[in-house]
Parts: sequence; structure tokens; C-alpha cells
Amino acid sequence: MVPSSAVLADLHSHTNRSDGSHDPAELVEIAAQRDVGILAVTDHDTMAGVADALAAGRAIGVQVIPGIELSIKVPHGSMHLLGYFNEPAPDPLSGLIAGFGEIRTERAREMVDRLNDLGVPLDWDDVVNGAAGAPLGRPHIAEALMRAGHVTERKEAFDLYLADGGPAYVGSDGLGVEEGVQLVRESGGAPVLAHPATLKLDDPHLDPFVGRLKQAGLVGIEVHRPEHTPDQFARYGALARKYDLIPSGGSDYHRPTSPHHPGATGNPPLAVDTADRLLAAVLG
Ligand code: AMP
Ligand code: ZN
Ligand code: FE
Ligand code: FE
Repeated sequence: MVPSSAVLADLHSHTNRSDGSHDPAELVEIAAQRDVGILAVTDHDTMAGVADALAAGRAIGVQVIPGIELSIKVPHGSMHLLGYFNEPAPDPLSGLIAGFGEIRTERAREMVDRLNDLGVPLDWDDVVNGAAGAPLGRPHIAEALMRAGHVTERKEAFDLYLADGGPAYVGSDGLGVEEGVQLVRESGGAPVLAHPATLKLDDPHLDPFVGRLKQAGLVGIEVHRPEHTPDQFARYGALARKYDLIPSGGSDYHRPTSPHHPGATGNPPLAVDTADRLLAAVLG
């Protein structure tokens, strides 16, 4: 149900339980200040922030949607799959989350090894401690690179070493494409393709790939994202219509100032019934 006070929805956000900078209650507070009445918390490969966000949301009148952003193994570019649920610990997904963390640790270790080989030494313990228990991701490595004085800002760490295809980049070794979509569905959730642009597929390849995802059980695709150009908005909107997918999206908010994710929570605004429609598509 949509609370009557809701003026905006945001279905993509991160907390410090993955690579965001706010704890879950703070994130919900920021969302409320920006008139977001419906907020999905979608941390990378974990739902550890969902319970606290739900509690904060109940206290201040924000409807929090339990979510996750799963890393998917693809041969080119990178793929993230969002999942939305009506409970904070959906099975079988929740039982697999610890394993996702281990896969992320191994991947981060490999990226740190590559940096060492590139003559950019990093202390592994500093990387691990900086993440404070969150599943390790590239932003944690970028922060360690800043602390070690190798770069002055996060963006520089990505531009020089960590961006998709960069010299220290290692892709995800997690779930396969169909496996990810099916896992979300089996767990009672709505799978949505995040930021289709990072797949790095041109139109003739993206179209059948989205068809393949739809066949596997995909119900939505991110059309509304702060960095989308009018052309991307039109292309992904057309794919949504062609494959009968719900046009979704959100800010992908991580922290107050981020050139990579320029939207603050609630920006761009999304139709307030989007989460209801996504969940109705899978729950009937
Ligand atoms: P990972 O899950 O380890 O692959 O890291 C993905 C996260 O890294 C994204 O959600 C962003 O927070 C961040 N990220 C990816 N690319 C960039 C970039 N070019 N500049 C800054 N941050 C980025
Ligand atoms: Zn992130
Ligand atoms: Fe993502
Ligand atoms: Fe994200």
C-alpha cells in the first residue's frame, strides 16, 4: 500500500551495510527529508541493512521495500540484478548471502593482488577493516587507495585502476544470468535489470539479451536513472514496452557527493505504484 503522504518513490539505494556511507536509519531519514515515501534498500549482495531500515521507516512513516542488488557473472561489461521482496529474509536467497560475501572477498583479494602487481601496494587488512563487515566491493578498495595516498579521490581510483575493464578490475564470479533471475523468483521476489548500460551491449545484442532475461522471469528494467541521457531513457523504455517489463529505477544513492551516482535519493522521481506493480507481477 502506498502511504498517503508519499510523494516520491526511489527503488535503488545503498547503505553502509554494503558500499554506501549512511547507516540504514540515516538513509531512511534522508529519504524522508527529500519527500521519498517509498524507499527500496538494495545493497550489493546483502540484505543486512533491511531490518534496521524497516524499523526506521515504521518510526518516521517511510515505506521501506526489502531489496538486494545481486552481482551476476557475464562475459562482457557487468550486470547487476535488483530483487524486491515483501519480507526482510526471503528464502532460499537469505541462506546464500554468506556465500556471496565469500565470493566478494576472494574477488577483492584478486583485485588487491593485481594492484600490487601494478606497483600499487595496498595493505589487505586495511581494505578489510575499512569495509567494517560489509561484503567487499570496489569502493572499499578505492577508499584504501585514498588512505594509502595512491589517489586523491574515489573517481581517480576507478579511472586509473578499478572501472569495468580497468587494469585491476575483476568481474563477478557469482550467480549466472538465469540462475540469478530464478533465485529471486523462487524467493518470492521481483527481479529487475539494473543499469542496463553497464552490460556494454549495443542495441542488436541488448534486445535479445533482455528477451532472454524476460524468458527467465524478469519483471522490470531500470529506465529511470539520474545519469540516463534522453536517448537511453527512450531505448530502455522501448525495451520495457517490447518485453512487457515494468519501467523501474531510482537514484542508486550511495553518499552525499558522488559524481558516479549524481542522484540524491528520490532523484529521479518514480511512479509511486512501481513497487506495488513489481511485486504484484510475481505474487499475483
Ligand atoms: P562492485 O560491486 O565491487 O563491482 O562495485 C560496484 C560499485 O562501485 C558501484 O555500485 C558504485 O558504487 C561503484 N562504482 C562503479 N564504477 C564506478 C566509477 N567509475 N566511479 C565511481 N564509483 C564506481
Ligand atoms: Zn555500489
Ligand atoms: Fe549496480
Ligand atoms: Fe546500486
